[in-house]
Amino acid sequence: MWTYCSCGERHWGRYGAAGLLLTDPARTGVVLQKRSRMVHHGGTWSVPGGAIEGLEGPVRAALREAHEEAGIEAEGIDVVDTILGTDHGEWTYTYVLAEAERPADPRLGTSWEADHTAWVDLDRVATRRLHPGLRADWPGLLTTLEDCDGRTA
Ligand SMILES: [Zn+2]
Repeated sequence: MWTYCSCGERHWGRYGAAGLLLTDPARTGVVLQKRSRMVHHGGTWSVPGGAIEGLEGPVRAALREAHEEAGIEAEGIDVVDTILGTDHGEWTYTYVLAEAERPADPRLGTSWEADHTAWVDLDRVATRRLHPGLRADWPGLLTTLEDCDGRTA
């Protein structure tokens, strides 16, 4: 369901949306997916995610969408934090920062919503054709990712 927002845009999700910002403990990269032509801003790259359903909240929504869209199993990842991205009052986008080992040969799924899912090196993210929301939020997210570099669990 679309939210027709006071910013003049429409956003997907009655209760806002959330995405999984999945990185590795060494913070070398993040998981991005190329959005299929079937969805809003098709052909751009974004994090796996989607609309929050009812009262599930951003963490459950991000993990559910990442599983649906890319076959990412919640068991294999540690949720570290939530980061508020776009905040338009009646509509928000929340990034769920999580860590998982970066496999040498990742096997990430596809779905009707995502043509391709891949680990992308941090310094290569900005070179992709990003979804406008991620394009706007990426500099702040990159700072967050780099700030946490080297912390001990
Ligand atoms: Zn808005």
